[in-house]
Amino acid sequence: MILARNLTQRYPRAEGERPLTVLEGVDLEVRDGEVVAILGPSGSGKTTLLGLLAGLDQPSEGSVRLEGQCLAELNEDARAALRAECVGFVFQSFQLLSTLTALENVLVPLELLPRQRALSAAAAERRARELLERVGLAARLDHYPAQLSGGEQQRVGIARAFANEPRVLFADEPTGNLDRETGLEVAELLLDLNRELGTTLIIVTHDLVLAQRSDRVIRLEAGRVAPAETAEDAV
Ligand code: ADP
Ligand code: MG
Repeated sequence: MILARNLTQRYPRAEGERPLTVLEGVDLEVRDGEVVAILGPSGSGKTTLLGLLAGLDQPSEGSVRLEGQCLAELNEDARAALRAECVGFVFQSFQLLSTLTALENVLVPLELLPRQRALSAAAAERRARELLERVGLAARLDHYPAQLSGGEQQRVGIARAFANEPRVLFADEPTGNLDRETGLEVAELLLDLNRELGTTLIIVTHDLVLAQRSDRVIRLEAGRVAPAETAEDAV
């Protein structure tokens, strides 16, 4: 479960100017296994919110509990270890490592697992292969990102995100760089895998299909959560 209270993020501006508030007083509670879509115009603070929930950034005010841990009480190394163990990410721009093949990209999170969950090289490769087969890329294991289409790259991104069997998966506009049809396929895949594995999914999206298929929609406007509404009202 994720519990965020009064999340506020401000950035300093030029001397004499008031700081820029990009997120203000956000409260959020996400149950285990829940699929929550975050909607909102560009610049409304969606990516900032994900960064705070995942412990990538520290808020100016407020707190986050992630997997029973209060993020503010952890140092940067401990937050990174918590992410390596429990969190997966899917990015709008895929963010694959260009010098690694599809298979090697999916192996990266498996190499970062804590010692008690570490896999042998053979077991890690088996898991990475299985995931890439699951996302339809059995014939692309040795391709580099530049040799893959956008949709294929995002499939690798999804396989990578699920590699460490995350409890929580954050997806930031995962279909935002794909054409509509490819985006729908990728969205289906993300939701299917999520359902199979019971992951908590927090997904920033402009895609109304994805929003409709979520358990709940949260709308951000200028850094604040807009009044509660049902998924049907929101889309
Ligand atoms: P969204 O993902 O909803 O488009 P973001 O969370 O990326 O919005 O950004 C919200 C606002 O915060 C934007 O106006 C952006 O310019 C500003 N912002 C984001 N990160 C920083 C930063 N590190 N320093 C200053 N301003 C930032
Ligand atoms: Mg964003």
